[in-house]
Amino acid sequence: VDEFGLISRYFTWPVRHTALGVGDDAALIDPTPGCLTVAAADMLVAGVHFFADADPRGLGHKALAVNLSDLAAMGAQPRQALLGIALPAADEAWLAPFADGFAALAERYGVDWVGGDTTRGPLNLCVTVLGEVPRGMALLRSGARPGDDVWVSGVPGLAALGLAHLRGECVLAAAARDAALVRLHTPEPRVALGFALRGIASACIDVSDGLLADLGHLLCASGDEACAGARVAMPLSAELEWDAVAAPLTALLPPIGDALRRDAVLAGGDDYELLFTAPAACRESITALTAPTTAPLTRIGRIGAAVAGENGSLPSSDRRSAEPVITLIEDGRRTHLRSRGYRHFG
Ligand SMILES: [Mg+2]
Repeated sequence: VDEFGLISRYFTWPVRHTALGVGDDAALIDPTPGCLTVAAADMLVAGVHFFADADPRGLGHKALAVNLSDLAAMGAQPRQALLGIALPAADEAWLAPFADGFAALAERYGVDWVGGDTTRGPLNLCVTVLGEVPRGMALLRSGARPGDDVWVSGVPGLAALGLAHLRGECVLAAAARDAALVRLHTPEPRVALGFALRGIASACIDVSDGLLADLGHLLCASGDEACAGARVAMPLSAELEWDAVAAPLTALLPPIGDALRRDAVLAGGDDYELLFTAPAACRESITALTAPTTAPLTRIGRIGAAVAGENGSLPSSDRRSAEPVITLIEDGRRTHLRSRGYRHFG
């Protein structure tokens, strides 16, 4: 067995609901009638997305978890995963726990590992996941409408605080530190919540870049949809209540410095929570979801009308140049924030 034969040994598992798994030129998949296939891929590069000496078991978990989070944001059922991996050397002491972390999460979400590729090179992981959603039921970024509530799951900023702790930018008490590092290193994808939000949420995205940045993506996509056919599409706007956005983190932590808290909550990436919108009429059904999905849900603001940029001028014909206006309401004061450019942990 050559050294890269070793890798395939660690990554060859029996398939449970796939017609043909690893071993031929390609896998064969039986789609469920009435469902659309949902596909997503994410690349994780050592030194960019994780420390090269990161715990391999956690890394195996996270490489799959961030992809399952994208499926969750679509309301999809995860089905299969493919793994492309470049490794400096086929080191069994690294591969065994990495495969273990990946496989344990795959098992929990009923994901079949059906293929991939291995090569020698700087440590780099590229995971592709496939899932399914009944036709017409997928959650999209583009469905938000003015007047909808904005909700988020979990504790916005928790993963970023874990990173700040590792960088020596703050010192967290043991309980908060543990929670933050778990969210940073082994995030739990909100798959059950994604299912539960089918037919309830008007739009959904997972928070990977930061709350403001990802809300900005949702506002742009929804603005394009709302302005379909218009000469100029403008993003929708949003108002966020600071007390509500910061409440989950504040409940967990003693004072840590206002600037750090603000950066973590508004701009911290890596939370992999779901940020979604829904009509106000859905408040009770959303509150009722909290228990079975285990992730606490917080209503943090509402969607506003499409508006021109901060300077009051219309955006240029390049739709992507229009930056959404997000207003933070704090003690009655209103501050306009930039969805792009507000970066600390970026
Ligand atoms: Mg995403």
